[in-house]
This record gives sequence, C-alpha cells and structure tokens, in this order.
Amino acid sequence: MSNSKQLDGTLVELRAAERSFAAAGGSFLALRAVSLSLRTGEFAAVVGGSGSGKSTLLNLITGIDRATAGEVWVADTPLHTLTEDDLARFRARHVGIVFQFFQLLPSLTALENVILPMDFVGVLSTAQRRDRAIQLLEQVGIREQANKFPDALSGGQQQRVAIARALANDPPLIVADEPTGNLDSHTAHEVLMLFSRLAREGKTILVVTHEKEHRSLFRKVFELADGQLVNAETASSRREVSACTG
Ligand code: ADP
Ligand code: MG
Repeated sequence: MSNSKQLDGTLVELRAAERSFAAAGGSFLALRAVSLSLRTGEFAAVVGGSGSGKSTLLNLITGIDRATAGEVWVADTPLHTLTEDDLARFRARHVGIVFQFFQLLPSLTALENVILPMDFVGVLSTAQRRDRAIQLLEQVGIREQANKFPDALSGGQQQRVAIARALANDPPLIVADEPTGNLDSHTAHEVLMLFSRLAREGKTILVVTHEKEHRSLFRKVFELADGQLVNAETASSRREVSACTG
C-alpha cells in the first residue's frame, strides 16, 4: 500500500489474508482469503457464528496474530512483514483493543489502568499521563469512578474503563472483540453508542457483536462463515444486499 492509500482514507486493508492452524492430519484454515478495507472514521461490525473466524480476523488486524498468507496493512504498515517486537511497538501506538471480559488489572484503580499503556509508550510526563487519563475517563462518562478498583465497578463501568484504556495512546484504530458479550442489553446499547460517538469523532472502530438489533448503527457489516467473508454490507447498500442474499 503506497502513501496514497492513507491519504485516500484507507486505514485497514486485508488482501487475501489467510490464517491456517496445524491440526491432526494436516492444517485447518480458520480464515480463507479475506479481502476487506476500512476507511478512517468508519464504524464497522464483524458478525458470524461461533468458530466462523471473527477473533482470528481481529487478531490479524491488531497484530496479536499473523497471517499465514496474504497481506494485512494497517496505517500504511505491512503487518505481515513485521517481527514480534515490531508488532508490539506497532500495537502500542496504533491500535486500542477492547475485550469481552474487560481484562482490567484488578490491583490497579480505574485511573491506573488507563495510565498503563501510556507508561509503555513513555511519551508523556507522569503528570500529563494522569491528566490525560482523567480526561479519558471523563470522555467515557465515568470520571467519578477514577479511584475505584475494577471489582467495585459494574460491568458497563469496567468496559468504559477498558475503552478509556484503549484510547490512552490516541490510536487511530479501536478493535473490540465481543465487547458487549458480558453486558445486559441496555448497557450493551450504551457501549455501542459510545463507540459510535468515538467513530464520529474520527476513530476507526471495528467491533465483533451479536447485537442484531443494533446492526443499523454500523456503517459496514462484515459477515464471516467458516472462515470466509460471505457478505460485506455498507449502510447505503444494506437493503439491496440483504434482499439479494435472502
Ligand atoms: P470466532 O471468534 O468466530 O468464534 P475464532 O476466530 O476464534 O472464531 O476461531 C475460528 C476457527 O479457528 C475455530 O474453528 C477455532 O477452533 C480455530 N482456531 C482459532 N484459534 C486457533 C488456534 N490457536 N489453534 C487452532 N485452531 C484455532
Ligand atoms: Mg471469538
């Protein structure tokens, strides 16, 4: 991908990306030649049944895992060519990751959890990190919970802390793997609305979700089945595409 890609707004691009795993009697293709792209500021969902390859896809985009064939470009960086160390450095600055079970460190307060990724990158002073973490908690609506430990927070509050943590180093891309999977439907809706707002403010956001009723929030929906991208809808084409595919 040349510089012109990012200039034209493409932030994520997969070209025939594959991921195979060693299995008894050969190899198992968890992701088959997936090609897709995301533009800066897009709010997109990945849907599909259990085992369809959603997490595998997200892990390639965050650089947690690596494609066994094809290309994965994020922010003009060819992730398929990077070493583990380079991938870790790339991730720290370019991608914020949100998980289903929040994965906050229980021995740190909400504020300290949000500061942690800033410590890893080491750009801001100690005082600046603290100020920024407070601002981020404010942005996700839980500033008053800053000094509480995770186990004193509700699931929705913990997920907001995790989202603030994902924003810590101001990455262009936020990737969330079933971030609403452990939340009640009202809280799930609030968390998706928060992501939607962050996308309007310029973040590119890719979310694995089962919240069918919220599908209209997303500008793009990628559907996986058996490791294949079987449908890619954009908001404008959603009616026609779903009419075509039944
Ligand atoms: P989803 O997130 O859609 O439920 P996954 O991406 O986790 O699905 O998994 C897709 C397929 O790849 C599944 O069949 C799963 O068992 C397999 N798979 C995922 N990770 C591994 C791994 N590390 N080793 C072997 N098989 C794996
Ligand atoms: Mg999964």
